[in-house]
Amino acid sequence: MKTIGIIGGMSWESTAHYFAAINRETARLKGGLHSAPILLQALDFAPIAQMQSQGAWEEAGFLLAQSARTLETAGAQIVILATNTMHIAAGAIETAISCPFLHIADPTADALLADGAETVGLLGTRFTMEMDFYKDRLRERGLDPLVPDVDHTNLNAIIYEELCRGIVSDASRAIYVRAIERLAARGAQAVILGCTEIGMLIGDDDSPLPVYDTTSLHAKAAVAAALA
Ligand code: GLU
Repeated sequence: MKTIGIIGGMSWESTAHYFAAINRETARLKGGLHSAPILLQALDFAPIAQMQSQGAWEEAGFLLAQSARTLETAGAQIVILATNTMHIAAGAIETAISCPFLHIADPTADALLADGAETVGLLGTRFTMEMDFYKDRLRERGLDPLVPDVDHTNLNAIIYEELCRGIVSDASRAIYVRAIERLAARGAQAVILGCTEIGMLIGDDDSPLPVYDTTSLHAKAAVAAALA
């Protein structure tokens, strides 16, 4: 099995879920006491979140590219970035390494297309919902992403103020469920949890639409690639 390099820490809460999901999937596929060979670089999220709010995307991309190189030099044979938002820097990462980089939107698109979905709700940070880098990747795959038609401030704040700090509340779950209901009313056939922390808040049992959790789909795709 190849060694999986994880650029993590954005937030560490979701990186912990990645770590568990990759190991569980490895144990499921290989059996026994098997676990995944993983190299993790967990970055300090505070300066990165600040770069996000300042729009310093190039600077943030430089940091992530450096992290990808560190992981590859240390022995990673596949690199993943454990956040949707920072896939804005996917290009910088890809050019920094020679091993494969698995883009988070790809396994998500594969799963949606396999299930026959086309019009899909997209929930994430305001950057993921409002900028084009993520929606364009989905469009290139033939999907039609819809983002909530309400003010995104609350949905965004729940990610940074609560989920990234390990706070999961019923009140915030209700806000997300309402946003999914509105996406369903506009024709969404499924919803992408396009932020690696939203799976802490919303599962299939909470959602009026089938849920596609980028954290678990990305983790499973990393294991499949590492075993291929
Ligand atoms: N982990 C989140 C995501 O998947 C948000 C934190 C970040 O901005 O990186 O987008």
